[in-house]
Amino acid sequence: MDVTARIATLELAETFVIARDARDTAEVVQVELSYDGTTGFGEGAPIDRYNESAESALQYVEDAAAALGDDPFALDEIEYGLEPREWAARSALDAALHDLQGKLTGVPVWRLLGLRRQGPPTSWTIWLGDPDDMGNRAARVADRFLRLKLKLGARDGRDVDRVRAVREATAAPLQVDVNEYWTLDEALDCLPQLAELGVEYCEQPLPAGDPGGARLKAASPIPIYVDEDCHRLADVAGCAERAHGINIKLAKSGGIREAVRMAHAARALGLGVMLGCMIESGLGISAAAQVASLCDHVDLDGNLLLANDPWPGVEFLDGVQVPADEPGLGVREEVPDPR
Ligand code: MG
Repeated sequence: MDVTARIATLELAETFVIARDARDTAEVVQVELSYDGTTGFGEGAPIDRYNESAESALQYVEDAAAALGDDPFALDEIEYGLEPREWAARSALDAALHDLQGKLTGVPVWRLLGLRRQGPPTSWTIWLGDPDDMGNRAARVADRFLRLKLKLGARDGRDVDRVRAVREATAAPLQVDVNEYWTLDEALDCLPQLAELGVEYCEQPLPAGDPGGARLKAASPIPIYVDEDCHRLADVAGCAERAHGINIKLAKSGGIREAVRMAHAARALGLGVMLGCMIESGLGISAAAQVASLCDHVDLDGNLLLANDPWPGVEFLDGVQVPADEPGLGVREEVPDPR
């Protein structure tokens, strides 16, 4: 197999703010894998929180080329030949391999995996801002999205006010993501108030590995989901004592293959399963959408946050991100009109 890779810069429609970061663009690595005249594509979104960058991901893919061999169906062998690091780069390779398999067999990836095409509706992210601003932004999208995810963790004592402002703007189901920015005391204080406002669950209230995790799980009136605490299969069992569910992202797991393993492990432990994403084009989102039916909650709005999605193909239908009924990942790059 021949592999080429490049860095692509995605432009956001609006500045995206969370507790630790604000940005207008996001860099991803895109991989092209050719075999016998057929080409598979995949995208990975490096997470700087874990010391990954577009440059380090690109380097990993270039170095990995020789380890890929010449059988796109030999996923097990390929996986064990790759160095266990740079998970976004690995997710791009994994997606390109699945895209290639689908195109070679004429089958969409979700069918190749034996899964249903359609998963639960996606949430729309209301990025962190002042309470009124978040309420206004929620009101603007309330007829388009069936659930909203609020970014919290501003450390200004106004996180509950943010949720209240959004609650007043819409009756849509709400979830919140604190991105590790609460202390145990703040979480114990806020979560009962969020429960009263009808928030369905809270993502990563405490820093990853915080010793208060088990106590918070026992005390919380709403389910706790962990994201920064849970990357790959080996993390799932340890999350059962601190959370009611896990947030799987391909950029953390290293791709579809590990994501499926994680979903099954979570079920065996009685945990809920959420599927998340980074800021990604339709190429990255299409890979995650293939496994959405395994999950209880889906947060795949990455490509919808862009000014322009250069890889259309995933259909946003009645609140659900539906993968195409076409071979492989079912997306195609849209080359911009030079005029
Ligand atoms: Mg999160």
